[in-house]
Amino acid sequence: MFDLASLTDLLTQPQKIVITTHHKPDGDAMGSSLGLYNYLIQQGHHARVIAPTDYPDFLSWLPGNEDVIIYTEHREEAAALIADAKLIFCLDFNALSRINDMGELVGGSSAYKIMIDHHLEPADFDDYRHWDINACATAQLVYDFIVNELHHKELVNKDVATCLYTGIMTDSASFRLPNTTSTVHRIVADLIDAGAVNWRIHELVYNSASENRLRFLGHCLANCLEVLPEFNTAIIAVSKQDLERFDVETGDTEGVVNYALSMANVRLAAFIVERSDRVKLSLRSKGEFPANEICKKYFNGGGHRNAAGGHSENSLEQVVQQFKQILPEYKKLLIQ
Ligand code: 5GP
Ligand code: MN
Repeated sequence: MFDLASLTDLLTQPQKIVITTHHKPDGDAMGSSLGLYNYLIQQGHHARVIAPTDYPDFLSWLPGNEDVIIYTEHREEAAALIADAKLIFCLDFNALSRINDMGELVGGSSAYKIMIDHHLEPADFDDYRHWDINACATAQLVYDFIVNELHHKELVNKDVATCLYTGIMTDSASFRLPNTTSTVHRIVADLIDAGAVNWRIHELVYNSASENRLRFLGHCLANCLEVLPEFNTAIIAVSKQDLERFDVETGDTEGVVNYALSMANVRLAAFIVERSDRVKLSLRSKGEFPANEICKKYFNGGGHRNAAGGHSENSLEQVVQQFKQILPEYKKLLIQ
């Protein structure tokens, strides 16, 4: 049996370690991965973060970012690292399908797989799991893993703290979501004491937009927003042409859905975007409304109750129609 004692024992010697996270990594995916990376390298481990795809520029300042390998751009190097690894940490995802074609490499590798995650219903691909759906971010769980399972609070240095702060800040929507407990605030206080400069991190993540991003946001709100008052729902649907017109880059679409949710009566907001290969949905909800249920049932996805996502092979128009047709089923929950 591979348990915490076996893992702790392995980590007493320098090991070859891969850390990976989900497709289109967000602030928590990269923050938790690089937080763990900056912890492991202090002990002489040969650790590398492999991101399945690229990620937004507003995360490229994170300490250790220069050593990240993007799988889609360096497949051979990434495959060799995975094949050679003794340990693979799987952060902020719960099923190998979330890392695209990398899933086969990770699944087929003989490395011990350690899942650190806060998503519902994890698939069974790991050897050891530090998992809690009540955590506001995977970065919170990485902190807990380092401090309370490996007893290395002294190794939470400025770089580790900066990355973990970023993960917690972004996944808790800047400490606003209901799962931002007093425990989370105590962890955040520890991270600031360890060197995370909170105001600077907010600046780097939230005040780093390009002019294009702002003009694109204006377009979304002026021309792509549809409000359905009878369902307390708002939809922003964006076509491939819109993305091209505003030269939208990875990360520019992040957070647009929250503007739709910011209207007083809206309980469910959808951002539906026509990407080059498929249509992607991002749902956000208020209170008890289960956005993840819609994504799981109808759009090959999942996520958390108030923030979920999925995708479809249908056209943009079809997906918007399909989404609207689902709403009557949830009318009671939406209008209460
Ligand atoms: P976003 O809307 O920011 O892309 O995703 C919000 C949350 O939904 C993510 O934290 C993730 O948990 C979940 N999510 C997004 N896309 C997918 C998907 O395609 N499959 C699954 N299982 N979850 C997703
Ligand atoms: Mn997360």
